[in-house]
Amino acid sequence: MEIKLSKYCDFCFGVKRASGLIEEALEGAKGPFYSLGPFIHNPRVVEKFSQKGLKTISSLRDIKGGTLVIRSHGISPNVLKKAKALGLKLLDVTCPNVKKSQEIVSFLARQNYKIIIVGDKTHPEVKSLIGTCGASRAFVVNRSETLKKLKLKGARVGVIAQTTQSKIKYLKILTKLLEKDFSEIKIYNTICEDTLSRQKEASLIARDVEMMLILGGKMSANSRRLTQISRASGAPTYHIESASQIKPEWLKRKASVGVAGGASTPKWIVTEAVKKIIQERGDSSKCSVKLNKKI
Ligand code: SF4
Repeated sequence: MEIKLSKYCDFCFGVKRASGLIEEALEGAKGPFYSLGPFIHNPRVVEKFSQKGLKTISSLRDIKGGTLVIRSHGISPNVLKKAKALGLKLLDVTCPNVKKSQEIVSFLARQNYKIIIVGDKTHPEVKSLIGTCGASRAFVVNRSETLKKLKLKGARVGVIAQTTQSKIKYLKILTKLLEKDFSEIKIYNTICEDTLSRQKEASLIARDVEMMLILGGKMSANSRRLTQISRASGAPTYHIESASQIKPEWLKRKASVGVAGGASTPKWIVTEAVKKIIQERGDSSKCSVKLNKKI
């Protein structure tokens, strides 16, 4: 069996940076440390960090003091204000790409643009963008059909995408949007490079193998998108969080399997999955692991 491994099988730049900063703080500074919601959408990594002292909370009301970690997805200014009012210390690990998106919506809001955010309105990054530009001027669009409800006549419109959005979907929505009546439009390409490379790579591998495994948290938007892209490229695809979820029957009579990971999936989780595939085959001499080189 040939196992084709994506070149992007580790944390993305933003998550690597965030986890490094948090680890440093957990080792050096006095706790307690809190994250409002999981600091990344990967339960296994969140569990490891919780053992080191990073507690996940669901509301600021749950805490009395300590350090609040601002996650790589960013935070809404309102929540930030509340945290400051509570006297919490802050450790800001917002990804620079998300910060850039926040600056864009803040600029557009100051210039009185209507702002269209292409993304998932329940995702923390999108919530932080809505909070930054103000809910009254932000419209979150996840499907081109939603655009029908939008009245843009005479408006100046600014459009950005959630950083982990699929490029194909963004282009599809933009194409529909351009049919509408508005006075001016500014379109920003805010999909991050890492996301684009992962999507391109997963799609290329999926075209070449009999089955794909996407490693990533079930709540991870970018892992779910990789799964959709892989399926759309033609390979039966399974989205799993860990090697233990690999079912032996998936691998039966397969000559090639592709493996890719989401932005919040560390290398060790991917390595475990590759080892499990080899173990299931029962004879490691019949398996070869290759890094995809076509990209
Ligand atoms: S996926 Fe991109 S935007 Fe999101 S944390 Fe990673 S590098 Fe930053």
